[in-house]
Amino acid sequence: MRKSVLHNSGPKVIAWELTRRCALRCKHCRGSARDEAYEGELSTDECKKVIDGIADYVKPVLILTGGEPMTRPDIYELARYAADKGMRVVMAPCGHLITPETARKLKEAGVQCISISIDGSTPGKHDAFRGVEGAYARTMEGLQHAIDVGIQFQVNTTVTKLNVDDLPAILQRAIELGAITFDIFFLVPTGRAGALRDLEISPEQAERALQWAAEMAQTAPIRVKTTCAPHFARIVRQGPKSEAPAARPACHPGAAGNGGHGHAQGHGGKRPVSTGGCMAGQGFVFISHQGILQPCGFLDTASGDLRKADFNFQRAYEESQVFQDLRDHARYEGKCGACEFVHVCGGCRARAYELTGDYLAEEPQCTYIPRRTRPQESTA
Ligand code: SF4
Ligand code: SF4
Repeated sequence: MRKSVLHNSGPKVIAWELTRRCALRCKHCRGSARDEAYEGELSTDECKKVIDGIADYVKPVLILTGGEPMTRPDIYELARYAADKGMRVVMAPCGHLITPETARKLKEAGVQCISISIDGSTPGKHDAFRGVEGAYARTMEGLQHAIDVGIQFQVNTTVTKLNVDDLPAILQRAIELGAITFDIFFLVPTGRAGALRDLEISPEQAERALQWAAEMAQTAPIRVKTTCAPHFARIVRQGPKSEAPAARPACHPGAAGNGGHGHAQGHGGKRPVSTGGCMAGQGFVFISHQGILQPCGFLDTASGDLRKADFNFQRAYEESQVFQDLRDHARYEGKCGACEFVHVCGGCRARAYELTGDYLAEEPQCTYIPRRTRPQESTA
Protein backbone atom coordinates (compact mmCIF):
# COMPACT_ATOMS: atom_id res chain seq x y z
CA MET A 1 0.00 0.00 0.00
CA ARG A 2 1.25 3.49 -0.85
CA LYS A 3 2.19 5.56 2.14
CA SER A 4 0.84 9.07 2.57
CA VAL A 5 3.43 11.84 2.59
CA LEU A 6 0.88 14.26 3.97
CA HIS A 7 0.68 15.08 7.63
CA ASN A 8 -1.06 12.46 9.75
CA SER A 9 -0.28 13.87 13.18
CA GLY A 10 -1.35 17.01 15.00
CA PRO A 11 -1.77 20.23 13.05
CA LYS A 12 1.31 22.19 12.01
CA VAL A 13 -0.69 25.21 10.88
CA ILE A 14 -3.85 26.62 12.40
CA ALA A 15 -5.82 29.47 10.84
CA TRP A 16 -8.08 31.17 13.33
CA GLU A 17 -10.93 33.38 12.21
CA LEU A 18 -10.93 35.57 15.30
CA THR A 19 -13.86 37.58 13.96
CA ARG A 20 -15.96 37.81 10.84
CA ARG A 21 -16.23 41.56 11.08
CA CYS A 22 -14.70 43.48 8.16
CA ALA A 23 -15.37 46.81 6.44
CA LEU A 24 -14.52 45.50 2.96
CA ARG A 25 -16.86 43.60 0.66
CA CYS A 26 -14.43 41.39 -1.21
CA LYS A 27 -16.16 39.38 -3.88
CA HIS A 28 -14.32 36.19 -3.03
CA CYS A 29 -14.80 36.41 0.75
CA ARG A 30 -14.99 32.96 2.27
CA GLY A 31 -16.88 34.24 5.29
CA SER A 32 -19.17 36.71 3.47
CA ALA A 33 -17.93 39.15 6.11
CA ARG A 34 -19.87 42.32 6.97
CA ASP A 35 -19.05 45.38 9.05
CA GLU A 36 -21.10 44.40 12.06
CA ALA A 37 -20.83 42.42 15.27
CA TYR A 38 -21.29 38.68 14.92
CA GLU A 39 -23.15 36.66 17.48
CA GLY A 40 -21.36 34.00 19.45
CA GLU A 41 -17.83 35.28 18.86
CA LEU A 42 -15.34 33.83 21.32
CA SER A 43 -14.58 36.19 24.21
CA THR A 44 -11.04 37.15 25.21
CA ASP A 45 -11.06 34.57 28.02
CA GLU A 46 -12.38 31.89 25.68
CA CYS A 47 -9.71 32.77 23.12
CA LYS A 48 -7.02 32.29 25.75
CA LYS A 49 -8.52 28.88 26.56
CA VAL A 50 -8.33 28.02 22.85
CA ILE A 51 -4.65 28.99 22.83
CA ASP A 52 -4.01 26.99 26.02
CA GLY A 53 -5.72 23.96 24.47
CA ILE A 54 -3.63 24.18 21.31
CA ALA A 55 -0.39 24.73 23.22
CA ASP A 56 -1.02 21.63 25.36
CA TYR A 57 -1.02 19.62 22.12
CA VAL A 58 1.15 21.29 19.47
CA LYS A 59 3.11 24.47 18.76
CA PRO A 60 1.89 25.37 15.29
CA VAL A 61 2.13 28.38 13.08
CA LEU A 62 -0.93 30.33 14.17
CA ILE A 63 -2.52 32.50 11.49
CA LEU A 64 -4.76 35.15 13.01
CA THR A 65 -7.34 35.94 10.39
CA GLY A 66 -10.94 37.07 9.87
CA GLY A 67 -12.90 39.00 8.71
CA GLU A 68 -10.45 41.67 9.69
CA PRO A 69 -8.64 40.39 12.80
CA MET A 70 -7.54 43.90 13.69
CA THR A 71 -11.15 44.91 14.45
CA ARG A 72 -10.79 42.96 17.70
CA PRO A 73 -9.55 45.28 20.45
CA ASP A 74 -7.85 42.33 22.18
CA ILE A 75 -5.86 41.34 19.09
CA TYR A 76 -2.48 42.40 20.54
CA GLU A 77 -3.17 40.67 23.86
CA LEU A 78 -4.10 37.43 22.08
CA ALA A 79 -1.14 37.54 19.69
CA ARG A 80 1.23 38.05 22.63
CA TYR A 81 -0.45 35.25 24.59
CA ALA A 82 0.02 32.80 21.71
CA ALA A 83 3.58 33.93 20.99
CA ASP A 84 4.46 33.43 24.65
CA LYS A 85 3.16 29.85 24.35
CA GLY A 86 5.77 29.17 21.68
CA MET A 87 3.70 29.54 18.53
CA ARG A 88 4.85 31.38 15.41
CA VAL A 89 2.19 34.06 15.16
CA VAL A 90 1.37 35.54 11.77
CA MET A 91 -1.61 37.57 10.64
CA ALA A 92 -3.83 38.17 7.60
CA PRO A 93 -5.14 41.75 7.91
CA CYS A 94 -6.56 43.75 5.01
CA GLY A 95 -4.05 46.49 5.83
CA HIS A 96 -6.50 49.36 6.32
CA LEU A 97 -6.17 49.40 10.09
CA ILE A 98 -2.38 49.38 10.13
CA THR A 99 -1.18 52.76 11.32
CA PRO A 100 2.27 53.65 12.66
CA GLU A 101 0.94 52.92 16.15
CA THR A 102 -0.89 49.66 15.40
CA ALA A 103 2.08 48.43 13.37
CA ARG A 104 4.31 48.99 16.38
CA LYS A 105 1.81 47.19 18.60
CA LEU A 106 1.68 44.21 16.23
CA LYS A 107 5.45 44.00 16.27
CA GLU A 108 5.57 44.22 20.07
CA ALA A 109 2.84 41.56 20.31
CA GLY A 110 5.11 39.12 18.49
CA VAL A 111 3.44 39.08 15.06
CA GLN A 112 6.26 37.91 12.81
CA CYS A 113 4.72 38.27 9.40
CA ILE A 114 1.57 39.49 7.70
CA SER A 115 -0.08 38.67 4.41
CA ILE A 116 -1.49 41.42 2.26
CA SER A 117 -3.92 40.74 -0.56
CA ILE A 118 -3.33 42.38 -3.93
CA ASP A 119 -5.69 41.20 -6.64
CA GLY A 120 -4.69 43.54 -9.44
CA SER A 121 -1.47 45.20 -10.51
CA THR A 122 -3.17 48.62 -10.64
CA PRO A 123 -5.38 50.41 -8.10
CA GLY A 124 -8.36 50.24 -10.48
CA LYS A 125 -8.15 46.49 -10.99
CA HIS A 126 -7.65 45.80 -7.29
CA ASP A 127 -10.46 48.10 -6.12
CA ALA A 128 -12.93 46.58 -8.59
CA PHE A 129 -12.30 43.17 -7.06
CA ARG A 130 -12.26 44.38 -3.46
CA GLY A 131 -15.52 46.25 -3.88
CA VAL A 132 -14.25 49.47 -2.25
CA GLU A 133 -12.79 52.46 -4.06
CA GLY A 134 -9.44 53.46 -2.59
CA ALA A 135 -8.84 49.99 -1.11
CA TYR A 136 -5.53 49.59 -2.94
CA ALA A 137 -4.15 52.93 -1.73
CA ARG A 138 -5.16 52.22 1.88
CA THR A 139 -3.65 48.74 1.74
CA MET A 140 -0.37 50.17 0.46
CA GLU A 141 -0.37 52.80 3.17
CA GLY A 142 -0.92 50.19 5.90
CA LEU A 143 1.70 47.92 4.39
CA GLN A 144 4.27 50.71 4.45
CA HIS A 145 3.68 51.17 8.19
CA ALA A 146 4.28 47.45 8.73
CA ILE A 147 7.46 47.60 6.64
CA ASP A 148 8.64 50.61 8.65
CA VAL A 149 8.58 48.63 11.91
CA GLY A 150 10.25 45.61 10.33
CA ILE A 151 7.34 43.19 9.93
CA GLN A 152 7.87 40.81 7.01
CA PHE A 153 5.05 40.29 4.54
CA GLN A 154 3.82 38.15 1.72
CA VAL A 155 1.51 39.12 -1.11
CA ASN A 156 -1.56 36.97 -1.69
CA THR A 157 -3.49 37.09 -4.96
CA THR A 158 -6.77 35.31 -5.62
CA VAL A 159 -6.85 34.20 -9.24
CA THR A 160 -9.98 34.70 -11.34
CA LYS A 161 -10.68 35.18 -15.03
CA LEU A 162 -10.33 38.91 -14.30
CA ASN A 163 -6.70 38.79 -13.25
CA VAL A 164 -5.20 35.53 -14.50
CA ASP A 165 -3.37 37.43 -17.26
CA ASP A 166 -2.30 40.06 -14.73
CA LEU A 167 -0.37 37.58 -12.57
CA PRO A 168 3.09 38.42 -13.99
CA ALA A 169 2.51 42.14 -13.33
CA ILE A 170 1.26 41.46 -9.79
CA LEU A 171 4.31 39.29 -9.12
CA GLN A 172 6.49 42.13 -10.35
CA ARG A 173 4.69 44.51 -7.97
CA ALA A 174 5.23 42.10 -5.06
CA ILE A 175 8.95 41.98 -5.88
CA GLU A 176 9.17 45.79 -6.02
CA LEU A 177 7.37 46.09 -2.67
CA GLY A 178 9.83 43.75 -0.97
CA ALA A 179 7.53 40.78 -0.27
CA ILE A 180 9.23 37.59 0.86
CA THR A 181 6.59 35.41 -0.83
CA PHE A 182 4.06 35.66 -3.65
CA ASP A 183 1.21 33.28 -2.88
CA ILE A 184 -1.30 32.57 -5.64
CA PHE A 185 -4.69 31.57 -4.25
CA PHE A 186 -7.04 29.68 -6.49
CA LEU A 187 -10.65 30.73 -6.10
CA VAL A 188 -12.79 28.31 -4.13
CA PRO A 189 -16.42 29.15 -4.94
CA THR A 190 -17.90 29.00 -1.45
CA GLY A 191 -19.20 31.84 0.77
CA ARG A 192 -19.66 35.10 -1.13
CA ALA A 193 -17.40 33.65 -3.83
CA GLY A 194 -20.15 31.16 -4.66
CA ALA A 195 -21.62 33.92 -6.81
CA LEU A 196 -18.26 34.13 -8.60
CA ARG A 197 -18.48 30.70 -10.13
CA ASP A 198 -18.51 32.37 -13.55
CA LEU A 199 -15.21 34.07 -12.71
CA GLU A 200 -13.48 30.86 -11.74
CA ILE A 201 -10.82 30.02 -14.29
CA SER A 202 -11.31 26.83 -16.28
CA PRO A 203 -9.35 23.68 -15.42
CA GLU A 204 -7.26 24.27 -18.56
CA GLN A 205 -6.49 27.86 -17.53
CA ALA A 206 -5.62 26.60 -14.04
CA GLU A 207 -3.23 24.08 -15.56
CA ARG A 208 -1.47 26.84 -17.54
CA ALA A 209 -1.36 29.18 -14.55
CA LEU A 210 0.14 26.42 -12.43
CA GLN A 211 2.76 25.68 -15.07
CA TRP A 212 3.68 29.36 -14.99
CA ALA A 213 3.78 29.34 -11.18
CA ALA A 214 6.08 26.31 -11.25
CA GLU A 215 8.40 28.18 -13.60
CA MET A 216 8.31 31.33 -11.47
CA ALA A 217 8.98 29.27 -8.36
CA GLN A 218 12.27 28.39 -10.00
CA THR A 219 13.25 31.73 -11.44
CA ALA A 220 11.64 34.62 -9.54
CA PRO A 221 13.80 36.45 -6.98
CA ILE A 222 11.20 35.82 -4.26
CA ARG A 223 9.41 32.69 -3.18
CA VAL A 224 6.40 31.84 -5.37
CA LYS A 225 3.85 29.33 -4.17
CA THR A 226 0.24 28.35 -4.67
CA THR A 227 -2.64 27.75 -2.29
CA CYS A 228 -5.75 25.68 -2.90
CA ALA A 229 -4.60 24.32 -6.22
CA PRO A 230 -3.51 20.99 -4.78
CA HIS A 231 -2.75 19.54 -8.20
CA PHE A 232 0.25 21.89 -8.29
CA ALA A 233 1.86 18.98 -6.46
CA ARG A 234 1.20 16.78 -9.47
CA ILE A 235 2.39 19.42 -11.95
CA VAL A 236 5.66 19.95 -10.08
CA ARG A 237 6.23 16.21 -9.87
CA GLN A 238 5.54 15.82 -13.57
CA GLY A 239 8.37 18.29 -14.21
CA PRO A 240 11.69 17.18 -15.63
CA LYS A 241 13.25 16.57 -12.18
CA SER A 242 11.57 16.36 -8.83
CA GLU A 243 14.37 16.14 -6.32
CA ALA A 244 15.35 19.30 -4.44
CA PRO A 245 16.38 20.47 -0.99
CA ALA A 246 13.79 21.43 1.59
CA ALA A 247 11.58 24.41 0.86
CA ARG A 248 12.18 27.69 2.66
CA PRO A 249 9.62 28.41 5.37
CA ALA A 250 6.63 30.40 4.18
CA CYS A 251 5.37 33.48 5.92
CA HIS A 252 1.92 31.89 6.09
CA PRO A 253 2.47 28.20 5.46
CA GLY A 254 -1.21 27.31 5.64
CA ALA A 255 -4.25 27.71 3.44
CA ALA A 256 -7.70 29.10 3.48
CA GLY A 257 -6.83 31.31 6.24
CA ASN A 258 -4.07 31.13 4.58
CA GLY A 259 -0.81 29.84 3.03
CA GLY A 260 0.14 26.48 1.54
CA HIS A 261 1.89 23.68 3.28
CA GLY A 262 5.18 22.86 1.86
CA HIS A 263 6.12 19.50 0.58
CA ALA A 264 9.67 19.94 -0.47
CA GLN A 265 9.93 19.15 -4.13
CA GLY A 266 11.81 20.77 -6.93
CA HIS A 267 11.00 21.65 -10.51
CA GLY A 268 14.21 21.37 -12.37
CA GLY A 269 16.22 20.64 -9.23
CA LYS A 270 17.52 24.20 -8.72
CA ARG A 271 15.11 25.97 -6.42
CA PRO A 272 13.03 24.43 -3.61
CA VAL A 273 9.35 24.50 -4.49
CA SER A 274 6.54 24.27 -2.00
CA THR A 275 4.05 22.15 -3.88
CA GLY A 276 1.09 22.59 -1.58
CA GLY A 277 -1.28 19.63 -1.80
CA CYS A 278 -4.67 20.06 -0.13
CA MET A 279 -4.13 20.88 3.52
CA ALA A 280 -7.60 20.01 4.74
CA GLY A 281 -7.08 17.55 7.55
CA GLN A 282 -3.43 17.18 6.54
CA GLY A 283 -1.64 19.16 9.20
CA PHE A 284 -4.00 22.12 8.91
CA VAL A 285 -7.03 23.18 10.96
CA PHE A 286 -9.35 26.16 10.69
CA ILE A 287 -11.07 27.54 13.80
CA SER A 288 -14.18 29.66 13.26
CA HIS A 289 -15.06 32.79 15.24
CA GLN A 290 -17.36 30.60 17.32
CA GLY A 291 -14.72 27.98 18.08
CA ILE A 292 -15.90 25.42 15.52
CA LEU A 293 -13.17 23.32 13.90
CA GLN A 294 -13.17 22.89 10.13
CA PRO A 295 -10.67 21.15 7.83
CA CYS A 296 -10.17 24.50 6.10
CA GLY A 297 -11.93 27.83 5.85
CA PHE A 298 -13.65 26.88 2.62
CA LEU A 299 -14.82 23.43 3.71
CA ASP A 300 -17.74 24.36 5.90
CA THR A 301 -18.22 21.04 7.66
CA ALA A 302 -18.44 21.31 11.44
CA SER A 303 -15.66 19.03 12.61
CA GLY A 304 -15.53 19.69 16.34
CA ASP A 305 -16.74 22.37 18.76
CA LEU A 306 -14.12 23.73 21.15
CA ARG A 307 -16.72 25.11 23.54
CA LYS A 308 -18.45 21.73 23.80
CA ALA A 309 -15.06 20.01 24.15
CA ASP A 310 -14.23 22.26 27.11
CA PHE A 311 -11.43 23.77 24.96
CA ASN A 312 -9.61 20.45 24.80
CA PHE A 313 -8.23 21.00 21.32
CA GLN A 314 -6.54 17.62 21.00
CA ARG A 315 -9.71 15.71 21.86
CA ALA A 316 -11.89 17.75 19.52
CA TYR A 317 -9.40 17.32 16.68
CA GLU A 318 -8.58 13.65 17.12
CA GLU A 319 -12.17 12.52 17.66
CA SER A 320 -13.49 14.31 14.58
CA GLN A 321 -14.81 11.86 11.99
CA VAL A 322 -14.29 14.44 9.23
CA PHE A 323 -10.57 14.79 10.00
CA GLN A 324 -10.24 11.02 10.19
CA ASP A 325 -11.94 10.64 6.79
CA LEU A 326 -9.73 13.25 5.17
CA ARG A 327 -6.55 11.61 6.42
CA ASP A 328 -7.55 8.29 4.87
CA HIS A 329 -6.90 8.58 1.15
CA ALA A 330 -8.34 5.11 0.61
CA ARG A 331 -11.74 6.71 1.16
CA TYR A 332 -11.31 9.27 -1.60
CA GLU A 333 -13.62 8.75 -4.53
CA GLY A 334 -13.70 9.22 -8.30
CA LYS A 335 -10.47 9.88 -10.12
CA CYS A 336 -8.77 11.29 -7.01
CA GLY A 337 -9.34 7.94 -5.32
CA ALA A 338 -7.70 6.22 -8.30
CA CYS A 339 -4.89 8.72 -8.75
CA GLU A 340 -1.22 7.93 -8.25
CA PHE A 341 -0.74 11.52 -6.98
CA VAL A 342 -3.45 11.44 -4.33
CA HIS A 343 -0.99 11.25 -1.43
CA VAL A 344 0.80 14.45 -2.45
CA CYS A 345 -2.16 16.28 -3.95
CA GLY A 346 -5.43 15.07 -2.48
CA GLY A 347 -7.59 17.29 -4.69
CA CYS A 348 -9.60 20.18 -3.25
CA ARG A 349 -12.09 18.73 -0.80
CA ALA A 350 -14.02 22.01 -0.59
CA ARG A 351 -14.64 22.22 -4.35
CA ALA A 352 -15.72 18.57 -4.31
CA TYR A 353 -18.08 19.27 -1.40
CA GLU A 354 -19.51 22.40 -2.98
CA LEU A 355 -20.25 20.59 -6.20
CA THR A 356 -21.47 17.23 -4.91
CA GLY A 357 -22.15 17.55 -1.17
CA ASP A 358 -19.47 14.89 -0.62
CA TYR A 359 -16.07 16.05 0.60
CA LEU A 360 -14.50 12.77 -0.50
CA ALA A 361 -15.58 13.15 -4.15
CA GLU A 362 -13.12 13.97 -6.94
CA GLU A 363 -11.65 17.46 -7.46
CA PRO A 364 -13.50 19.13 -10.34
CA GLN A 365 -10.67 21.56 -11.25
CA CYS A 366 -8.11 18.98 -12.37
CA THR A 367 -7.59 17.87 -15.96
CA TYR A 368 -5.43 14.87 -15.08
CA ILE A 369 -6.55 11.35 -16.00
CA PRO A 370 -4.99 8.94 -13.50
CA ARG A 371 -3.07 6.04 -15.05
CA ARG A 372 -5.35 3.45 -13.53
CA THR A 373 -8.39 4.95 -15.22
CA ARG A 374 -6.85 5.03 -18.70
CA PRO A 375 -8.15 1.99 -20.58
CA GLN A 376 -4.80 1.17 -22.21
CA GLU A 377 -2.92 1.39 -18.89
CA SER A 378 -5.55 -0.22 -16.64
CA THR A 379 -4.11 -2.65 -14.15
CA ALA A 380 -7.52 -4.11 -13.32
S1 SF4 B 1 -10.12 21.73 0.66
FE1 SF4 B 1 -7.88 21.91 0.48
S2 SF4 B 1 -7.44 22.81 -1.52
FE2 SF4 B 1 -9.64 23.10 -1.06
S3 SF4 B 1 -9.84 25.13 -0.16
FE3 SF4 B 1 -9.56 23.70 1.54
S4 SF4 B 1 -7.34 23.52 1.91
FE4 SF4 B 1 -7.66 24.53 -0.08
S1 SF4 C 1 -6.99 13.48 -10.02
FE1 SF4 C 1 -7.25 14.31 -7.94
S2 SF4 C 1 -5.49 13.50 -6.78
FE2 SF4 C 1 -5.00 13.29 -8.98
S3 SF4 C 1 -3.83 15.11 -9.55
FE3 SF4 C 1 -6.02 15.51 -10.01
S4 SF4 C 1 -6.83 16.51 -8.17
FE4 SF4 C 1 -4.89 15.52 -7.60
